[in-house]
Amino acid sequence: MKKVYNFSAGPAVLPSSVLKKVQDEMLDYADSGMSVMELSHRSSLFQAIIDDAECLLRELMSIPDHYSVLFLQGGASLQFSMIPMNLAQNKKVAYVNSGSWSEKAIEEALKIPDLTVDVIASSQQDQFKKVPTIPAVTADYDYLHITTNNTIEGTTYFEVPTGIEIPVIADMSSNILSSEYDVSDFGLIYAGAQKNIGPAGLTVVIIRKDLIRLVDNLPAMLDYSVQEKNNSMYNTPPTFAIYVAKLVFEWLKELGGVKSIEAINRKKAQLLYDYLDQSSLFSSPVERGSRSLTNIPFVTGDAAIDKQFVEEAEKAGFVNLKGHRSVGGMRASLYNAFPIEGVTALIEFMDTFTKKTEE
Ligand code: PLP
Repeated sequence: MKKVYNFSAGPAVLPSSVLKKVQDEMLDYADSGMSVMELSHRSSLFQAIIDDAECLLRELMSIPDHYSVLFLQGGASLQFSMIPMNLAQNKKVAYVNSGSWSEKAIEEALKIPDLTVDVIASSQQDQFKKVPTIPAVTADYDYLHITTNNTIEGTTYFEVPTGIEIPVIADMSSNILSSEYDVSDFGLIYAGAQKNIGPAGLTVVIIRKDLIRLVDNLPAMLDYSVQEKNNSMYNTPPTFAIYVAKLVFEWLKELGGVKSIEAINRKKAQLLYDYLDQSSLFSSPVERGSRSLTNIPFVTGDAAIDKQFVEEAEKAGFVNLKGHRSVGGMRASLYNAFPIEGVTALIEFMDTFTKKTEE
């Protein structure tokens, strides 16, 4: 089998032990004579899978009982619409613009009729090289939306400011389960699964129960109260993705949980940032205090050299290092399942490339 280090920003690398288990159980799940993909979502076998997945996620993130966990579809992108549709009771919402995904969330909120969408902080003028400071917000907003990790720009809020009176809504798509957050700091957390959780097709929503309310005329699929009442099974859920997510949660628990993986993630990221900070060819465009653990963009300052680096790296087995088309350069995504050996191997490769280029 071809061995590569996969730096994809998503869908991203999964733990190899999880993939092996999926393979082992592929044709016959728990002596049922059926694949997980063939199980009815109403069967006791699948019910046990979704229950375990929820239980494990609750344990990993210490999710309090007054929060519901929903396993939905439509990606994080559908949450950009569902959030204002469900939570904007007073028709006034606040957003922080910290990068391309925040901008998408804002764009979707702006499509909701009669909704006032205020961007209360932005780092656009700094080319999103840092996250903006979150100012005090008045209590007349329905919520404040932030993106905890900006996948494209490589910046992160490691903490949310305390004392915000309104619910804080967090897009955690690219750093859920990779560093510790206190769930009770948030009204709602959402994440597409395809980075730290499992296959694409599953979206996790963690929502404080008092925020779930009936809204007139919402399509059932877009209504948190319908999804909650039906335990995420109003329609056929993405059963296979939920099963793989459960295995990833087990893997993470065995590793010691979020605290342990955060320590590993810090070590991985530090190795690369330290190398970039002393390199004569490569550098990080991101301000130190905002640097992401999971998405690390880097540049040479010369688009032709960047291109050559990405091509040569690909040939050497370092795949998906090309930066997002909107920012160029390179980006190494180091999610939970990405091995530390891959970081040291990349640094060695960058060093050899530097010597060759500067000869
Ligand atoms: N938000 C963030 C921070 C992301 O990184 C992504 C995808 O990369 C999205 C939202 C969109 O996610 P999805 O493709 O699940 O809609």
